[in-house]
Amino acid sequence: MKTSILAITTSIALFSSLSTLAETTKTLPIIEQQAQVAGYYQYQAGDVQITALLDGTNYLSPTLFKGIPTAKVTQILKKYYADQAKGVQTSVNAFLVNTGSSLVLVDSGSSSCNGPNFGSVIKNLKAAGYKTEQVDTILLTHLHPDHVCGISDKGVANFPNATVYVADAEANYWLNPKQVAKLPQDKQARFKQTVEKIQQAVHPYQAKKHFKTFKLGDKIKGFDVISTAGHTPGHFSFAFKSGNEEIVFVGDIVHSHSIQFDQPETAIDFDTDPKKAVQTRLAQFARLAKQGQTVAAPHLPFPGIGHIYSKDGKSYQWIPVHFKD
Ligand SMILES: [Zn+2]
Repeated sequence: MKTSILAITTSIALFSSLSTLAETTKTLPIIEQQAQVAGYYQYQAGDVQITALLDGTNYLSPTLFKGIPTAKVTQILKKYYADQAKGVQTSVNAFLVNTGSSLVLVDSGSSSCNGPNFGSVIKNLKAAGYKTEQVDTILLTHLHPDHVCGISDKGVANFPNATVYVADAEANYWLNPKQVAKLPQDKQARFKQTVEKIQQAVHPYQAKKHFKTFKLGDKIKGFDVISTAGHTPGHFSFAFKSGNEEIVFVGDIVHSHSIQFDQPETAIDFDTDPKKAVQTRLAQFARLAKQGQTVAAPHLPFPGIGHIYSKDGKSYQWIPVHFKD
């Protein structure tokens, strides 16, 4: 008698737990994908704190890669598990460097210049604990909209106390009104559209005389400038030493952690001078792989901080920074 009561009780319990399970499975809501990361990542290099700021991500068509057969592009993307239906995911990152005496922003993201997927740099800078007023220096690797547009919003400076620095060759290329006539007819319309965005972004700084140019050999707030022309005519990288570590903010010497590391001689459609851009990448990759500097890159997967490795001096590997809490 006792046993049968137990059996009945057990089977009721089992039944009720099974029905609860069935109910749970049926009613469990599907959670929509949330923002995957905080949008900032802090990396300490000696006394210097670098905060990577995510502006957003988007998908690039694999056809934008030049000087490489399509089949090879597909093969490399498959190898890296990067062959997504929407294209090759690409990040836009900016970097905030707290040197102790200065708060320096390297590149600034797209703001609203490249569509709704971008424009989160300011939000993420605040989330990281900083204020836009604290930024005193902005270093621009070049003047493409995904690097310059974030400095302003509708004609108003986003960083009211900052001075913007760009290479004189870069400013002369994009901001000299005589430049457009030197370009082939079919490139002029796109160039003018880009120039309009750049002018709007830099205007509030020019009006306050907070827009300055630099040249090779100059040093700005402890940053050395490195000529890395090719992607644009006045493209520069910036290097900062902290203790035994050197961090190089490479800018657009690379746009893909898969194709352009595996086959670094691959150009991209956005390069002003593709041949020179490839030469620059080959020279910088060789140097960075040999010397082991920490690299901060605006278009490698967020946070875009890591190292470059080469086994044979011909192809390279991106070694992202290991997550530290
Ligand atoms: Zn870019």
